[in-house]
Amino acid sequence: MPAEEICKKQLQIVLDPEHTKCSICLSVWHDVVTVAPCLHNFCNGCFSEWLKQCQEKHSSILCPQCRAVVQFVGRNHFLHNIEEDILQADSTLRRSSEDIVLLDSHASIKSPLVISSGRKFSRKRARAPPDEENAPCPQCGNEYAGFQCNQSTIHLQCQTCGGMMPSRSNASVPQHCLGCDRAFCGAYWHSLGVTGTDIHPVCSREILKPITERSVSRIPFLVHEKNRHEQDITEKCLRQMGRSLQDVLSEWVTKMNNREIGKTRLPLNHSEMINPQTYVCNECYDKLVSFLLYWFRVTLPKHYLPPEALQRQDCWYGSACRTQHHNEEHARKRNHVCRPTRGGAHM
Ligand SMILES: [Zn+2]
Ligand SMILES: [Zn+2]
Ligand SMILES: [Zn+2]
Ligand SMILES: [Zn+2]
Ligand SMILES: [Zn+2]
Ligand SMILES: [Zn+2]
Repeated sequence: MPAEEICKKQLQIVLDPEHTKCSICLSVWHDVVTVAPCLHNFCNGCFSEWLKQCQEKHSSILCPQCRAVVQFVGRNHFLHNIEEDILQADSTLRRSSEDIVLLDSHASIKSPLVISSGRKFSRKRARAPPDEENAPCPQCGNEYAGFQCNQSTIHLQCQTCGGMMPSRSNASVPQHCLGCDRAFCGAYWHSLGVTGTDIHPVCSREILKPITERSVSRIPFLVHEKNRHEQDITEKCLRQMGRSLQDVLSEWVTKMNNREIGKTRLPLNHSEMINPQTYVCNECYDKLVSFLLYWFRVTLPKHYLPPEALQRQDCWYGSACRTQHHNEEHARKRNHVCRPTRGGAHM
């Protein structure tokens, strides 16, 4: 039996749909978010609307269900799966597609939001000098480019350094990577000329920057599904052609932008919106490189391939093959940079 067909063991649990409902709209959660510390759950759209109203009134953010002060809100991926299972089991609980479009248009929570640090800063008198130790971010108590945080400012936590930055809808540079929707502080603080301190770490600009401004000197480890033999072959092809990796990637970024290759299989969020000026994080950039090098290889004229690569047969499962990850000989003897010809593998 091929490794691909190993059956999954599934655990059955009994769940009351009443416990999977949002107390704002009274339907089963849609794109569920969890607030802390009380851990109540709501639809992303419903809670985003609530958040907006509280901010407009400059009031503190209280949980709509229990009135506890909300310090944090984030999407809950585990409960999201449960939300899907419930709707599968009972389709009468589904909302209309118009409702879903409306709810999604309100949803503003992409990455975890830190709403109140719960530390002394927010309780201080407004005129007290800012105490850097207790301020969540460098912009709390210091004005940069005409903006200073106040007590109702919501902060984003950077995925890389763990530092905070104010969540700004009108910032001149992105605060999120479009490929993964996670928050990164590098571009934001760099645009304000703010550098880090021991108390407030700040990432370098390199962490989040436009695709065209990125450079890569060697093949990232996740290219060709981490198959080292295929990576070697790609390296040899580049040498044979006398071209640098960077040069080939720039060419393929242009081809992607000109729609010579489809973006639907690009393993990034919002793939249709990705263009050369898009800000992405290191991880998403490596995924993009991986996607582009796949296209470079599958379209490469055969005479550029090294002799050992020419004699191989295509693996039925192509790049989706899982055997290549644990069977060294299989990984080497079959071509894995090809489209799958067998069912079950999705590419
Ligand atoms: Zn709701
Ligand atoms: Zn609550
Ligand atoms: Zn701040
Ligand atoms: Zn990313
Ligand atoms: Zn950072
Ligand atoms: Zn294979």
